[in-house]
Amino acid sequence: MRPRLAIGLTLALLAAAPLHAASEVVPGIFLIRGGFTPGTQPDGNSVILKAPDGLIVVDTGRHAEHTQAIIDFAREAKAPVRAIINSHWHLDHIGGNARLRREFPDLKIFASNALANARKGFLAGYRAQLEDLIKNAPDDNARKVFQSEVAIIDSGAELAPDVVIDASGNRTIAGRTLNIGLEQRAVTEGDVWIYDAATGVLIAGDLVTLPAPLLDTACPRRWKESLDRLAKMDFELLIPGHGPPLTRRQFLAYRSAFDHLLDCASGEAPKSKCIEGWNTDVGALIGGTDPKFVAALMDYYAGMLKRDPAEINKLCEP
Ligand SMILES: [Zn+2]
Repeated sequence: MRPRLAIGLTLALLAAAPLHAASEVVPGIFLIRGGFTPGTQPDGNSVILKAPDGLIVVDTGRHAEHTQAIIDFAREAKAPVRAIINSHWHLDHIGGNARLRREFPDLKIFASNALANARKGFLAGYRAQLEDLIKNAPDDNARKVFQSEVAIIDSGAELAPDVVIDASGNRTIAGRTLNIGLEQRAVTEGDVWIYDAATGVLIAGDLVTLPAPLLDTACPRRWKESLDRLAKMDFELLIPGHGPPLTRRQFLAYRSAFDHLLDCASGEAPKSKCIEGWNTDVGALIGGTDPKFVAALMDYYAGMLKRDPAEINKLCEP
């Protein structure tokens, strides 16, 4: 029997929490919201679970301030970080891995093995772009931003998993048993989710992102299938990769928004129609987000869905 959640109250408190402050989502599970604002690279959400032997951290952010908030939390809790679980390899989720390893040398990283291919493909291409950007940076601040991205990519081996998640199932980590799932070729080549049956919390990584689906490395149709699988799970609260925690009903609204977006983009309707539909579908979930920011993101990502299907399908193949 798990404790009933005062979900309405929890969500209201979380919405009001300042950036980088940890808020308790349910007893023993804390959320550090990732920043996601116009003109800056995002941090993914980080989730900290208390376990009998220490702390488990799901995703470590990108910027130093975000990761520092995780370290500060551990110091205050007087508990070591025993494990990191990375939901996927995007830099806004693994960027703090090396910093946390330095702080807690005994920790183990759990993740899919998708980073290995990403380092040869997507990240190698991104690194080359960054080198150009560094050369042509308009000022020191901009240069530092690009250099810190390169530094994350170059911390290579420290980012990589000690334990590869290659199948779904129960695992006991730091003395806490969690149901850890693997989705393949959805948002990335390997996306990990974590379900805690004791509290009914599902930590979904970027399978759920607001205010927009971040499709950069995604196979859209397989992502949709993953959302259908998540919908069958018995969770009460879902913590997404970006955005505030969602009730089951809110997640179902997100899923239909995603389905509508894919349907629209595969048809004859212009991109603007698909974006309009998305805004209507997720309107209640993204209240307070700058509409211009949402418009810019959706212009980019709906455009991605309108690419040549052969291009998109490359990301669906094993
Ligand atoms: Zn992300």
